[in-house]
Amino acid sequence: MSGTLSYPIAEVPPSGVRHRVADGVYWLRFPLPFALDHINLWLLEDNGGWTVVDTGLGVRPSQKIWKGLLAEQLDGKPLTRVIVTHYHPDHLGLAGWLEQETGAEVWISRGEWALANVICDSPEVDTIERLRGFLGGHGLSGDDLDKVAGKGNGFRRVVQPLPSAPGFLSAGDVITINGDDWAVHVGCGHSPEHVCLYRDRDHLLISGDQVLPTISSNLNVRAAEPDADPVTDFVDSLKALRDKLPDDTLVLPAHGLPFRGLRARVDALALHHDEQLDRVQAACRERPQSAFDMLPVLFDRKLDVQQLMFAMGESIAHLNCLMQQGRVQREQVEGIWRFRG
Ligand SMILES: [Zn+2]
Repeated sequence: MSGTLSYPIAEVPPSGVRHRVADGVYWLRFPLPFALDHINLWLLEDNGGWTVVDTGLGVRPSQKIWKGLLAEQLDGKPLTRVIVTHYHPDHLGLAGWLEQETGAEVWISRGEWALANVICDSPEVDTIERLRGFLGGHGLSGDDLDKVAGKGNGFRRVVQPLPSAPGFLSAGDVITINGDDWAVHVGCGHSPEHVCLYRDRDHLLISGDQVLPTISSNLNVRAAEPDADPVTDFVDSLKALRDKLPDDTLVLPAHGLPFRGLRARVDALALHHDEQLDRVQAACRERPQSAFDMLPVLFDRKLDVQQLMFAMGESIAHLNCLMQQGRVQREQVEGIWRFRG
């Protein structure tokens, strides 16, 4: 999958220690209590203060790391600005807390902000019922359905509090940070309006989860948008990004190592999803299949509860994409959607 990527910065910083990767740009790594066990944040020198891109999960261990950073790693200069690439809790989680602790301004896109608010405001019981109906209708059942739907609205437990009054970023905006222009590029598919930042003077891209070096960003279909096609959204927006930026761009991703080889990576991701679509369509030609039936076709590993939820979303995403392309049709049999190729 990695094509011809190169990884020019091999030294991974320990948690809570900043590591310089470019002029005025530092890498911070925070732990995550998941199979994906870390997130990268990017700390930028900013006119006597600091801007940080993404914040870490809203849990006490991350707050503790931030307290150490604020006390010892910022050269006595204030954190003045927090930029959030997208609404997922490992990125947005501590933005509101940092706003309260430091007085920093928070910036995010409107689409990400709207979705974060919708999820935060969803009553727990509605979330569980809606998830049960949606995932049950795609073939998840028994213990698996109880466990996945029973997780309910975990978002609010790890995004505490939401920022109070963020500023909004849009595609085409240019942000000045320490005298440098950073262009806002927006992607979708992994989330509705994902912000990436690009500095042209040294070809630097802070990519969030939109482009990752070794794993494919999760493409999820939410119960509130059951017919969404995030695969097409994701691949189209990646190709647009690839066509705008030079191939020697140093990509600073939210997970994994900084890398060069944006073109190879985007092409590999597009190919990966094409192959997944082909595999799912071939299975649907053999006999009608549910999204749950497609899990072993798409994933060759055992899935924990969190991964099962992501995997169901990914499976529905690929089936919805095939529907949009007219390559499968669906019918509901005994309350479960079955797709035929
Ligand atoms: Zn994400």
